[in-house]
Amino acid sequence: MGLSGAMAQLRTRFAPSPTGYLHIGHAASAFHVWAAAQEAGGDVVLRIEDIDQTRCRPEFEDAIYEDLAWLGLEWTGGIRRQSNHYEDYAKVLDALAARGLVYRCFRTRKEVLSEIDRAPHGASAAFIGEPLSNDEENARIRRGEAYAWRLSLTRAKDALGPTFETLGFSEEGKGWQEADPDAFGDVVLARKDIPTSYHLATTHDDALQAMTHIIRGEDLFASTSIHVLLQALMGWPTPIYRHHDLLLDEHGKRFAKRDKSRTLRAMREDGFTPANIRHLTGAK
Ligand code: GLU
Repeated sequence: MGLSGAMAQLRTRFAPSPTGYLHIGHAASAFHVWAAAQEAGGDVVLRIEDIDQTRCRPEFEDAIYEDLAWLGLEWTGGIRRQSNHYEDYAKVLDALAARGLVYRCFRTRKEVLSEIDRAPHGASAAFIGEPLSNDEENARIRRGEAYAWRLSLTRAKDALGPTFETLGFSEEGKGWQEADPDAFGDVVLARKDIPTSYHLATTHDDALQAMTHIIRGEDLFASTSIHVLLQALMGWPTPIYRHHDLLLDEHGKRFAKRDKSRTLRAMREDGFTPANIRHLTGAK
């Protein structure tokens, strides 16, 4: 499906997380991103999504640069490393907190799961909580209890009014997609000791970096509902999305970072060329 030729300037991004070596599935995704930019004469920026400091490692980040260079994929401008910008994400959280849209949730993972099971409409993945009273919240903070910052879906609905029902996004080749934030319930946007979540950081950066198109795997399709909700709440524009099919292995399973043999690094050592990789991913 071609991108609109009338587009003044396409800007998109490749946003890997350095939690392992890039594998052939990442290469497939990168080829989708770069092909779209090339077709429209646009730019690709590189963003390192390294907010999960327990899983991200510098050697994986270095390997990303090396692998992209090997594949001949060049990005425009500087690299944005999310871990250098925690203050930006804290500002968004503060802005949401000032409007009463996020609350501290002290429930453990186990408690959240049992709450979901007891939901009136049967089990769903969605957890809906509620802010505590100031006194109770302060007492728990003083006791040093762990908490998550959750986006209140109920408050978000109140804040957006009728707009909430119209939330959606344009998916290239498929047209308008209605967003379904209800499926997520109150999502976690940060934690006591973790300043941001993927949803918050990526949506903030997409707006900051003026992305016109988001091209990524279909595994992230559902998350787009949350991203669209955050965009509406923060007054950020909604880019055009394209969620591409995931590359599957010979057993019909998606590649994962644990499939060591399919990392670009291992394949390079085994003698594969960038042209071989392109061919294997089905990219032109
Ligand atoms: N950092 C995410 C990942 O590596 C991708 C985020 C995105 O494209 O929105 O899976």
